[in-house]
Amino acid sequence: MHCEVCGREIYGQPYYRVIEGGKMTVCGQCAQFSKQEWDPRKPQARPIRRRPSGAPQIRRRSDIEVAESIEVVEKYGILIRKTRQKKGLTIEDFAKKLNEKESVIKKMEKEQLNPNMTLIRKIQNELGINLLDTSPATKGPVLSRPMGPRTLGDMIKIKTPKDEEEEE
Ligand SMILES: [Zn+2]
Repeated sequence: MHCEVCGREIYGQPYYRVIEGGKMTVCGQCAQFSKQEWDPRKPQARPIRRRPSGAPQIRRRSDIEVAESIEVVEKYGILIRKTRQKKGLTIEDFAKKLNEKESVIKKMEKEQLNPNMTLIRKIQNELGINLLDTSPATKGPVLSRPMGPRTLGDMIKIKTPKDEEEEE
């Protein structure tokens, strides 16, 4: 059996932990990432089946992909504000156009808010700018991602077992 987080072979008892909302069978190391356990004996939506023989299951479930990751451009807040001002829109006008609260716009521009895809699309359409980082340099490892929901990658990097998941 392999750890579903790091992919290493699990020696001895595997640990059952809920990590990033997913039930994972993990090694002792990765068990530290979560204190939330799940019971493998209870029926699950996605049963773990052992392969009868040969081919060990090395496919590792990547929760990094599962976690909604939006790559926005650097300094998107300033970009939004400047473009908005160029168009002569106040925060109030802009908020109305987007059907959002002014506070949302303010937070966005101060980059105090993790924007979701819907909001980003609306802003892009409204201002005619691109907020999504599509440059290949920043693709791939999500570790250096400046913002967005915390991923497993980040958790591994900071290695603080009692670090709690805190969404905004
Ligand atoms: Zn592991």
